Amino acid sequence: MPTLKKDSFWLVCLTLAFSLILEAHGQVTRTLPAVTSSVVVVVGATLIDGTGAPPVPETTLVIKDGRILQIGRRGEVPIPAGAQIIEAEGKYLIPGLIDAHVHYNAPFLHRLYLAHGVTTVRDVGTSLERILTLREEIARGNILAPRLFATGPAINPRSVKAMGLSSAREMTLKLAEAGVDGIKVTGYNEEELKDILEVAHAHGLLVFGHTRLDPGALRAVQIGLDGIEHVTDVLEDCVEQNPPFPPDFDWSNRDHFFRYYYSQLHRSVNRTKLDQIIQLMVQNDVYLDPTLVNYNRGFVQRDTPELAADPAFRYMPKEYDRSNRYGHYGPEDRQQWEKTFALMQEATYKFFKAGGFLLMGTDSQAAAPDGALPGWSMHQELEFFVGAGLTPMEALQTATFNNAKVMNQEKDLGTLETGKYADLVILNGNPLEDIRQTKSIHLVIKDGLVLDPQKLLEEHLRHYGERGRP
Ligand SMILES: [Zn+2]
Repeated sequence: MPTLKKDSFWLVCLTLAFSLILEAHGQVTRTLPAVTSSVVVVVGATLIDGTGAPPVPETTLVIKDGRILQIGRRGEVPIPAGAQIIEAEGKYLIPGLIDAHVHYNAPFLHRLYLAHGVTTVRDVGTSLERILTLREEIARGNILAPRLFATGPAINPRSVKAMGLSSAREMTLKLAEAGVDGIKVTGYNEEELKDILEVAHAHGLLVFGHTRLDPGALRAVQIGLDGIEHVTDVLEDCVEQNPPFPPDFDWSNRDHFFRYYYSQLHRSVNRTKLDQIIQLMVQNDVYLDPTLVNYNRGFVQRDTPELAADPAFRYMPKEYDRSNRYGHYGPEDRQQWEKTFALMQEATYKFFKAGGFLLMGTDSQAAAPDGALPGWSMHQELEFFVGAGLTPMEALQTATFNNAKVMNQEKDLGTLETGKYADLVILNGNPLEDIRQTKSIHLVIKDGLVLDPQKLLEEHLRHYGERGRP
């Protein structure tokens, strides 16, 4: 696991100061404040610790050596001499957000995640060597970026071949021995899935991913898959009868697929089968990571003036634009997608209410304009969860505690408690009254390092330039 060892902390502390001026690609910048103290104290804020406990007003939170040393009521906790004090009267503390589904495919993502309070991400599909090197460099403090957990490439017949291997079993073993944090699967038959599960579980790793191809969600859950990424994968296994397709319909055409098949899930899904699969997932402790925002931006909001005017685009370098893989959408396409999106939210809430273990991931990556954007999308996903019926507290816990737990990191991450990593976000307003307040960030603290989101974004623009106007 990419965590910091205690005895190497001071070395890391020194390196951290340098990591602020050193980038992976050797560029130099000096706009971030240097680390002046290993003790940071946040005074006066209301604490929402992520355990589900009611908020505690007027607190003092002491951070030492990157971990939370003490939390208590203001005035009852001694403030160590020489500490860096952050006055946070009227503000709110929440645990650092964790994005459980990203594709960390460009170095410019570092500051965008951090500036939005995303202090940990789980990469679910990037080249093995590159992602493990990045994970190591971040853990050592050589790169200022969110904590990274990674699966390496997803297992499917193509990736098995690309790695020069002969079977899914062999690839699972190779990934496990390389030290991945989980196994992502995107293509397999029943026998292959059994093999993957056997090898992964023997190495203490969860197996999760897509179920949309054979054998489908229900069978995959029966065989023992640990988690499903994308709620559409559950819905697809409930399609009773396909809607009438146009005569030239072609399954391999992405535009056709999303326009005529996916957008029609609201009509073609059998609700009784949906309930059955949800029930079985809950019984078998199979998690669901719906990634709603990705579908909303990619299809519901596709080709709308609102999406085109998104101010976040200025931070997405033009060279990462994704070519248009789908045709243009009109009002009729959007109307169909809105209904399917409502079903996606309904399924998410049903799963939650039935006692299912929800994760929160976005599928964010270096892609614009229609994908889930790094950092921003986590706040949109929080809103979609609340829109689906979760309380703001439940949505926040999904994005923090649940995501930490599924990665086996609940001892270190996911809540604000003594002994845990000092990864937290200081908000200007109360997110329990209005979940959109998570976007109003005063400061982000990662590993006890105090970061100003505005400075991170300015620095990002200086490094990578502003996206040209279309
Ligand atoms: Zn993905």
